[in-house]
Amino acid sequence: MDKWLIKIPTNKSATPSQPSCSASNPTSSKTKKRKYDESYLQYGFTCSSHNNEEQPVCLICKEVLAAESMKPSKLQRHLNTKHATLSKKPIEYFERLCKHQIKKRTLWRSMLL
Ligand SMILES: [Zn+2]
Repeated sequence: MDKWLIKIPTNKSATPSQPSCSASNPTSSKTKKRKYDESYLQYGFTCSSHNNEEQPVCLICKEVLAAESMKPSKLQRHLNTKHATLSKKPIEYFERLCKHQIKKRTLWRSMLL
């Protein structure tokens, strides 16, 4: 019996130049949805979701960027152009900033509820 043979798909033609993100993503829609990556924190960005879409939010100026801007190059450019003085800050700085804001947010929520 030759049932041991495993079929290997060889359609490598339709692969766009994309960085190696988590392959377990069955959604192959036209609009490439970028996921927030924790490493984006080094650019001073956290994320917020609007209508099931993740958008990068600047921790410094609170500016919400378009979902398409969810890529290191864009986030880095924002940091370098708008917050040049903070562009050399270590990720720990932004981590602290992020935690501080989450704490503030949950505090607000507990006051409202
Ligand atoms: Zn900003």
